[in-house]
Amino acid sequence: MEKEADAIAKLMKTTPTEKERALIKKAITFAENAHKGQNRASGEPYIIHPIETAKNLARFGMGTTTICAGILHDTLEDTETTEDTLRENFGDDVAKLVEGVSKLGKLKFRGQIRHIESLRKLFIATADDIRVIIIKLADRLHNMETLSYIKKEKQKRIAQETMELHAPLANRLGMWKLKGRLEDLAFPYLYPQEAEKVRATLKQKTEVTERDLENLYKKLRKELAKFHIPVQSAGYRVKSLYSLWKKLKEKDMDIEKVFDIVALRVIAPTIEDCYRVLGSIHNHWRPLPGRIKDFIALPKPNGYQSIHTTVFTGNSVAEIQIRTPEMHERAEFGIAAHMSYKETQEIKIGLRKKKENNDEDTPVWIKEMKILQSTISEPDQFLKSLKMDFFKKRIFVFTPQGDVIDLPEGSCSIDFAYAIHSDIGDHVSHSKVNGKMKSITAELSNGDIVQIETSKNSSPTSKWLSSAKTALAKKQIKKYLDEHGGFVEKIKRAIGFG
Ligand code: MN
Repeated sequence: MEKEADAIAKLMKTTPTEKERALIKKAITFAENAHKGQNRASGEPYIIHPIETAKNLARFGMGTTTICAGILHDTLEDTETTEDTLRENFGDDVAKLVEGVSKLGKLKFRGQIRHIESLRKLFIATADDIRVIIIKLADRLHNMETLSYIKKEKQKRIAQETMELHAPLANRLGMWKLKGRLEDLAFPYLYPQEAEKVRATLKQKTEVTERDLENLYKKLRKELAKFHIPVQSAGYRVKSLYSLWKKLKEKDMDIEKVFDIVALRVIAPTIEDCYRVLGSIHNHWRPLPGRIKDFIALPKPNGYQSIHTTVFTGNSVAEIQIRTPEMHERAEFGIAAHMSYKETQEIKIGLRKKKENNDEDTPVWIKEMKILQSTISEPDQFLKSLKMDFFKKRIFVFTPQGDVIDLPEGSCSIDFAYAIHSDIGDHVSHSKVNGKMKSITAELSNGDIVQIETSKNSSPTSKWLSSAKTALAKKQIKKYLDEHGGFVEKIKRAIGFG
């Protein structure tokens, strides 16, 4: 156990204290006893899996509490261990995290559910502490790495789930490196032939491009030294297999049209240095028009920051990415990076400009997250408040078919009906909630199954307008009243009610 605890400690961003190290060791011993006699599909003792999960968490930059919960993450589901025992031995926080992970494990994502986006939200709402999701992702990463041992029939389903649920979640949390890993692990199980082809193409192309970039970097280094521009480090990043495939499909499968297969990545200490590096590059290599992207001044909607440029190197073109260490950390580990970095001014820059690419794909909660990030300086506090205040104000309601509709708290069946279709909304007459008849203006709760009945004779009234909560429903009701209201008023007047 000593060895495993040391291995985890070595991967941690901040060296754990004696007390923390002891707790990690205790968790390993506890988990090993709990899982005694159990084996992985690979035939190895089960304990290997929770330890690998914990190592992933350490790599993400998570602290002792999350790491301990990672070691214990399967004890509630797969062993005799109770939550009380966990609480007595490891405290409230660890016990709650393990319980959260077990709860997520019970959500089944098969068939039925068509709204994958709502599903992701449901996943997050159920988790209620963001660390639970991070543990789940660390767990999934190891499961994907060992997927080859699983029965063939199951492999594809697990890979699909990873592609549709876990990779997008990692993306939402800004953990882009992890997202790429998960996608690349799932890719060959879902599209074996395509994956093989792309792998071969990439390998060939990478060798040539890397040589090119190496030469370029040697020259650049000299140049930067001459002007005393500091560079912390540099390296290459090879495009992930799956994202290359997606790009290739856009470019008629022509690899020559993809410029960022291998990119040179330069890390400079400050934002100012980043721009000086850029200047120096453009001074020596002609940039490709339209390929200079300043994501430092104009961050991507998901918060990504870097300067990208593509230059002619003589025999080919090369993409160069320039960023500060903080931006790099954030790009690699996303939310987890905030465990070790308190917020600096960059986030504020991120908040200031949002014009570019401000598509609806940017979830509101990412924006809220950014606001949280800039207002809370204590990282632990930050993670706690990420219990997603946003989601507390949302409810998740199901159709009888299992589709998830998310609504603001206080919504009623009218909102639900309009969320499905404006025609259904305009004619909703009755509502069955969890099998019981309810007034269509009655407030819905999280997890309700709602069945809407419509009738030709039913139509929006001003009472509907005051009961509806969503902007969509209100808009549709107003529209209906505007178009039909005049007529009804006229009749009322004609028969003496006006
Ligand atoms: Mn597990």
